[in-house]
Amino acid sequence: MLEFRQVHKTYATPQGPLAVLEGVDLELRGGESLALMGESGSGKSTLLHLAAGLDLPDSGEVLLADHSISTLDEPARARLRRDTLGLVFQQFHLVPSLNVLDNLRLQARLAGHEAPEWSAHLMQRLGLAGLERRYPEQLSGGQQQRLAIGRALAPRPALLLADEPTGNLDETTASEVLALLLELVREAGSALLMVTHSAQVAAPLDRCLRLTHGRLGSLTASGPTQPEPSRR
Ligand code: ATP
Ligand code: MG
Repeated sequence: MLEFRQVHKTYATPQGPLAVLEGVDLELRGGESLALMGESGSGKSTLLHLAAGLDLPDSGEVLLADHSISTLDEPARARLRRDTLGLVFQQFHLVPSLNVLDNLRLQARLAGHEAPEWSAHLMQRLGLAGLERRYPEQLSGGQQQRLAIGRALAPRPALLLADEPTGNLDETTASEVLALLLELVREAGSALLMVTHSAQVAAPLDRCLRLTHGRLGSLTASGPTQPEPSRR
């Protein structure tokens, strides 16, 4: 579904080059769920951007649904995103001029995968039934994030990429929204790659990896299972 092979990414900054990813290997299979942890600035969002083909690696390979994204031009990458991915961010990125129902359907329409029954089911499960004609600004933060999750899952994407999807919500709302996200991901049959700062949030997922010093290591309750890779 998603594979990283020795992926390197360095940003040019006013202070000089900043190596963020230094040989990331990753394999995520269809339907699998993976939590991505790591300190602020460790490169988690960078990794998600590369997974979505929103940015390209300096070296190494990113394969999404068996396509090597560096070999595709931007229109082809955009098509691949549309056909395979759902994206959820900390900011909800709803379209303010569209009502709830049109926001929910937007992604599925673009992907040509509209399934009215699944959309209606999502509206119910997201607790948004009856609010179809409201606009995003007329919803609470939790409702807005549930809508953003529903929009991303409406086309039943092969992979949902979520970057701290509950980071902007209070603790109670965050755990409700998270539980719902995991259930709907399962119902949609999507794989999940989710960035989180919380071990509690990561616990129900199939695997948890930590990004340190530009590489991925696995995590157990007692800490990293692999020796820390030395910095090059
Ligand atoms: P957080 O948990 O705070 O969201 P993160 O793990 O998602 O952090 P990234 O956003 O991937 O971290 O950033 C990794 C590093 O790369 C940071 O030091 C950041 O300042 C830097 N960085 C990110 N994007 C760029 C960019 N476009 N140009 C230059 N530097 C960048
Ligand atoms: Mg980030």
